[in-house]
Amino acid sequence: MFELNEPQRMVEQVFRQFAEKELLPRVERLESGEELPYDLMRRMTRDLMGGDRISKALHRQADRMETGSSEDGRPAGREKGRRGEMDDPMIFSLIAKELSRVSPGFTMSWGVSVGLCGAGILNKGTPDQIRRYAAPVMSMERIGAWALTEPEAGSDAFGSMKTTARPDGDDYVISGSKTFITNAPHADVFLVYAKLDRGRPPAERPVHGFIVERTMPGLSTGRPFVKMGMKDSPTGEVFLDEVRVPKENLLGGREDRSMRDEAKESLGTERSGMAPMCLGIVERCYELSLGYARQRRQFGRPIAEYQAIQLKLADMYIRLQNVWNIVYRLAWMTRNDKRDMAYFCATKVYCARAAVQTALDAIQIHGGYGYMQEYHVEKLMRDAKLLEIGAGTSDINALTTARLELGLAPS
Ligand SMILES: Cc1cc2nc3c(=O)[nH]c(=O)nc-3n(C[C@H](O)[C@H](O)[C@H](O)COP(=O)(O)OP(=O)(O)OC[C@H]3O[C@@H](n4cnc5c(N)ncnc54)[C@H](O)[C@@H]3O)c2cc1C
Repeated sequence: MFELNEPQRMVEQVFRQFAEKELLPRVERLESGEELPYDLMRRMTRDLMGGDRISKALHRQADRMETGSSEDGRPAGREKGRRGEMDDPMIFSLIAKELSRVSPGFTMSWGVSVGLCGAGILNKGTPDQIRRYAAPVMSMERIGAWALTEPEAGSDAFGSMKTTARPDGDDYVISGSKTFITNAPHADVFLVYAKLDRGRPPAERPVHGFIVERTMPGLSTGRPFVKMGMKDSPTGEVFLDEVRVPKENLLGGREDRSMRDEAKESLGTERSGMAPMCLGIVERCYELSLGYARQRRQFGRPIAEYQAIQLKLADMYIRLQNVWNIVYRLAWMTRNDKRDMAYFCATKVYCARAAVQTALDAIQIHGGYGYMQEYHVEKLMRDAKLLEIGAGTSDINALTTARLELGLAPS
């Protein structure tokens, strides 16, 4: 369990090469906004992940859901995609780790599109929604966004949600606004969460997911925000002004099942998806620091010989091993359909903290050079900070862990 198998090792190698050769030289242009990350993501999906095969497999899965038969003759449910190695959750973790060693921002943009939007539709959508939206988003033909947060509804995303969907004939009419949405300035498909307004008081309205296309009249997006880090991941607002969305675009197609739990489940996925990103940051910062400590000389000796540096390296090593163990365990849990929200939240707190502290330590070991862009650890530090905020802040995740363990309702 705590060792990569041969296919996993190969994926690690292939994506390491891709990240170093294709992504690293573009980071500066991606961060300045001169270049968008999406063409490179498309190329990565096509050349390294068989984008075409992903799309065909999802179409076949949708067909099987309709006909009720599976490839091996068993009744078809929402079976795993049968995309070979790509069904191994550890493979996705390794891809996220390798990309995050170079650019956590690029990884987040890709992960939100494919994981939260694409896989969100794949896991909860109707066969028609899988064909029309999950397949093109997961094969990167189209860019996806996942829109839950609102200007006044962040940590209290469900309780304070103001965006509403009002049924009107064969449509829902959606009004409201979302903020801090990854990929919003360029996405084609938005998975938007809104409260269904059938006349009940706001607090009692169920939350549902709606698949909204950029081309639908009334949807607009703001300019990309200027951010501290994750600069290579465009973030922005989404405005929904009486957007008419056909009934077929209600995620899952059923009003009797509120998506509040499903959205919370996606949050669990989002939280557990952050550990591999943290691992990439911790691993790269540790390696760079080891190398630098060996070659940098002060007072006539390599700084690696000073205990103050050794203690920092030891802390980094401890975090690196812990985060690796968490990533292995999360992949095992996914493979075995084990969901444990307290564990997801706790690991998110630990891994994000580990990433921030390790990146800060790496800057300190590099001294003035660490503060310079060229040495890369400053980018990893700026990007790492978001991991303590996105997908629920560290405090909210810690409190949720405690409340779940205490048997209290999660806040
Ligand atoms: C770069 C970036 C990308 C993002 N991408 C997306 C995306 O794609 N889709 C999406 O839906 N959202 C996205 N988000 C939003 C993100 O999930 C929210 O920022 C996060 O959930 C926190 O919400 P908030 O910013 O409104 O902070 P607030 O909820 O206002 O919190 C402010 C502070 O108060 C604390 N706090 C709040 N309530 C409590 C409490 N009950 N007890 C103790 N402390 C509390 C918080 O921990 C925090 O420290 C993104 C954010 C960023 C910065």
